[in-house]
Amino acid sequence: MTDQRKGRIQTVCGLIEPEDLGPTLMHEHILWDVTRPEVQAEAEAAGTHPVTITLDNVWEINRRSTRDYGNQSNDDHAVALAELIRLREAGGAAIVDLSNFGLKPDPEGLRSLSQSSGVTIVQGAGYYVDEYIPDEMKDKSVDRLTGEIVDQVTQGCWGTEVRAGIIGEIGCMWPLRPFERKVLQASATAQRETGAAINVHPGRHAKAPFEVVDIIVEAGGDPTRLIMSHIDRTLFSIEEVLRLAETGCVLEYDFFGIETSYYWFSGVDLPTDYMRLAYIRALIERGLADQVVVSHDICTKTRMVTYGGHGYGHMFRNVVPLMRDKGFTADEIDTIVVGNPRRLLSFV
Ligand SMILES: [Zn+2]
Repeated sequence: MTDQRKGRIQTVCGLIEPEDLGPTLMHEHILWDVTRPEVQAEAEAAGTHPVTITLDNVWEINRRSTRDYGNQSNDDHAVALAELIRLREAGGAAIVDLSNFGLKPDPEGLRSLSQSSGVTIVQGAGYYVDEYIPDEMKDKSVDRLTGEIVDQVTQGCWGTEVRAGIIGEIGCMWPLRPFERKVLQASATAQRETGAAINVHPGRHAKAPFEVVDIIVEAGGDPTRLIMSHIDRTLFSIEEVLRLAETGCVLEYDFFGIETSYYWFSGVDLPTDYMRLAYIRALIERGLADQVVVSHDICTKTRMVTYGGHGYGHMFRNVVPLMRDKGFTADEIDTIVVGNPRRLLSFV
């Protein structure tokens, strides 16, 4: 079984050869729900309707992003299909949907959307952050968690026959919760057993990504096949960014399209797309282009074109031309949007 996957990429529609993977977004959500469980329960108890997004409220809803019930999810297949078609029209070809347990993943929904849109989709395995996990699941042993993740890659995800092609996004809060530590350790073992890459959502603290690398390495995981998400909101000095790159892990700038200094989760100054490219440029200048991947991490309706946002196509419609304007060579751009995704998504 493992041999069949080795050297190939596992999509929601089955295995493909790496050279058949086109320009790829490494961290998105297509069908998901990231509404916090207690907000969901309150809204249901109160009979609150999901917010209606209109031209005269979209800017404010997008700015505060997580405050309006209904903005943090999408289960509408027609909307998702229209968004995926727009991605193709912009020049994109593939999406990694990291909606895993806790984010209401829909692997079969993704498979049918991949078939109808022609976009290659890879499903993520494992667990999102502790807050989204029912308490009764948190006693599971590392071995049990490992077995579940391995099954999601080799058998199918959450009762379906759709197999995961990557482990993640593995959710971590700050400080790290005991359940999250176990899931990180299980992910490292599952990586060794399956050959999949791991993507981690680190806690919102500059020390969090370093702690994650330590746990993964200690548990026998391969840091060069560990992708650290959300560098944009976690590390702000180039020294810290380079120090993380020294561990060997891959740095993911995945807030492209968020062009606001205001961050709804914490009091940090978010970079703009121009600033993200400046960090990436600095990494490339030091010979680290192989350790960079990019995405938008779309997880609110207001970031989809249907609701007035930039959509999945922004990377190819706007960011890639901006890279060219800023002096990125064709090879460098290709490495970041095609070469690195092919390498990381291929099983070893
Ligand atoms: Zn995400």
